[in-house]
Amino acid sequence: MGRIAVDPARVARPRATDDEQTISGRRVRQLILWFVLVAPFIAVFVGTSSMTFAVGIVILSHVLVLYPTLTATSQWLGPVVTHFATDVKEVWLTIDDGPDPVDTPRILDLLARYRARATFFVKGERVRNYRQEAGEIVRQGHSLGNHSDGHPSARFWCFGPRRIAQEIDRCNKAILDVTGTPTTWFRAPVGMKNPFVHPLLDARGMRLIGWSARGFDAVKNECSAVVNRICKDIKPGSIILAHEGRREGRCNCIEFLVKRLSEEGYSFVIPGQDKLRSRAPGQGGDATKVGNTISAVMPRRPAF
Ligand SMILES: [Zn+2]
Repeated sequence: MGRIAVDPARVARPRATDDEQTISGRRVRQLILWFVLVAPFIAVFVGTSSMTFAVGIVILSHVLVLYPTLTATSQWLGPVVTHFATDVKEVWLTIDDGPDPVDTPRILDLLARYRARATFFVKGERVRNYRQEAGEIVRQGHSLGNHSDGHPSARFWCFGPRRIAQEIDRCNKAILDVTGTPTTWFRAPVGMKNPFVHPLLDARGMRLIGWSARGFDAVKNECSAVVNRICKDIKPGSIILAHEGRREGRCNCIEFLVKRLSEEGYSFVIPGQDKLRSRAPGQGGDATKVGNTISAVMPRRPAF
């Protein structure tokens, strides 16, 4: 299929303000990495007098890296978008792991019936394999986000910067090649990101998108349980995490969810960049604005 015409308005690229990076990521990340580097030396230094303290220092250094890496919405390593600002009953439905030749057309029909908009966080290799479905998503007014190229769930969090950059760039290229529209949004496989991810995203003018409501549809088949769990956390501005493909029933869960929230008066929108919010350390709720625009698509040199 051919490329889709680029709407210049959609090409406007967001990037974090300097304030945002300073407050919610760079300093904390640098502090953690600095501590990880010096921790072994401190341990050796104090080890002769207190082995317990030395072991504690080493364990603490590991925890400081592992906790924000393995906790999807942790802001310690940089801003993670967790919701968007709105005064009305609207939510952002995000659907991961596609496109899928069976599920994607079904979901698009469903969204059209409810006049709903959604963002599909896609895998680069599937975009190349299912170009028609990826293109149709954009053609019907939805958007695509980057969900890595091969979705290496178990290994992504321990990759080095070169391999992570490869995963991001290959998926970005697949999306751009097939749809003609670049994406500015990235969601890490299973939400795990290590200290290399934010600098690489920042260099590309991209934001890390998390979620505020999920039903664990990736591991559960029971739709009512999945939808109940999601609805428990829903409020205006929530970001919903759902999945397509692989498992029978995921589509049904999305259908039940869209129907139920529609009946409750919610609409499904794709929020503007200036509406995206993340929680900065120590600032509790609405804290950080993720906004502004940039025009560059080419990566800049990351600053770790
Ligand atoms: Zn995924």
